[in-house]
Amino acid sequence: MKSERKCAIILHGGAGDLSNLSTNELGRLTRATTKALERGFESTKGKTALDGVQDAVLTMENSGLFNAGIGSVFTLSGRIEMDAAIMNGRNLSCGAVGAVSNVRNPILLARRILEETDHSLVVGRMARRLAEKFGLAGTVLPSNKRREMWKQMRKNPAKYLKKNIAYASDTVGAVAIDAKGNIASGVSTGGLWLKLDGRVGDSALVGAGLYAENEAGGVAATGIGEAIMNVLLAKIVHGYMSTGRSAMDACKFGIENITAKKGPNTAGLVAIDSQGNFGYALNTKTMIVASMSEGMDRPTAKILTDRSLA
Ligand code: ASP
Repeated sequence: MKSERKCAIILHGGAGDLSNLSTNELGRLTRATTKALERGFESTKGKTALDGVQDAVLTMENSGLFNAGIGSVFTLSGRIEMDAAIMNGRNLSCGAVGAVSNVRNPILLARRILEETDHSLVVGRMARRLAEKFGLAGTVLPSNKRREMWKQMRKNPAKYLKKNIAYASDTVGAVAIDAKGNIASGVSTGGLWLKLDGRVGDSALVGAGLYAENEAGGVAATGIGEAIMNVLLAKIVHGYMSTGRSAMDACKFGIENITAKKGPNTAGLVAIDSQGNFGYALNTKTMIVASMSEGMDRPTAKILTDRSLA
C-alpha cells in the first residue's frame, strides 16, 4: 500500500549542558539516541505515530543513560519520581502521570491511561494502583553513578536548587507523523535534580511540555519545567504552527518567547508540522536531537549547540 504521507520522527535527549562529557560518553548518548530513533521510526511506519513516540521514549527510558525511566535523577530526599505524557493529535486525547515511583516505564503507564481510562492525568495512589493493574509496576534501581552524584549534590543543595539547567539535562521526548498524517508527541523525565518530593513538571502537562494536533503539528519540550509551564511553551509552538508556519519557525518563535520572559538556559524544543517538516531550537548550551523520515538514507543524531543554530 502506498503511503499517503511520509512517515517521520524527531526526538530529543534533553536540553542542558553536555560540554563536560567525554567523547566516549557523548558517543554512548548518540548511539542510544539513534537506537531509539530507529525503533520509533519502525513503529511509526509499521503501526502509528502514537506507537512510534511511545517506543522511541520507551527505548530511551530503558537505556539508563537519560534522565527518564531507569536513568532518572533523585529528589532532594533521594527518591525517584517521574513524569510522563503522551498525546494523540488525531483526537487531542492524552494520558499522563506525575511523580510516579513504582513504574519502570512511565510512558507505558501514560499510554494505558490514555487508552483505558476516562482521564488525562493521574497521580498518587491511583497512579500506583493503575501501574499494578496494567502489570507495569516495578522498582527503578538507580545506578551507583547516580547515587554518588546525589550524595555529592546533597552536600550543597543550594548550588543545584537554583533551577540550573546544567543539572536538568537528559529528559527525553519525541514527535512523529505516520502514513495517515496522524501526529503524536510523548515526553518522559525524572524531573530536576533535588526537586522537592511531589513536584510535578511540564513533562506531565499537555500545553506545557507537549502538544499534538494533526491539523497543525506536534511538539515536545525540555528544560526548566517551571519556566516552560509559566509560558505554556508547547501551546505557543502549536499555536504558531496552526497559523501555517513551519515547525522550524514555530520552534524558534517559542524559544524567543521563553527567553524573553524567563531568560536564557531555560528550554529546548523539537517539532513536526502537518506537512511533515522538522523543527528544533534551544536556548541552552546543548541538546541531543535525532530525526528520520522516509526517503532519508540514515537517521541523523547530533548534539546541537546554541552556536550551531546561530
Ligand atoms: N522539563 C523537565 C522538568 O522540569 C526537565 C528536563 O526537561 O530536563 O521536569
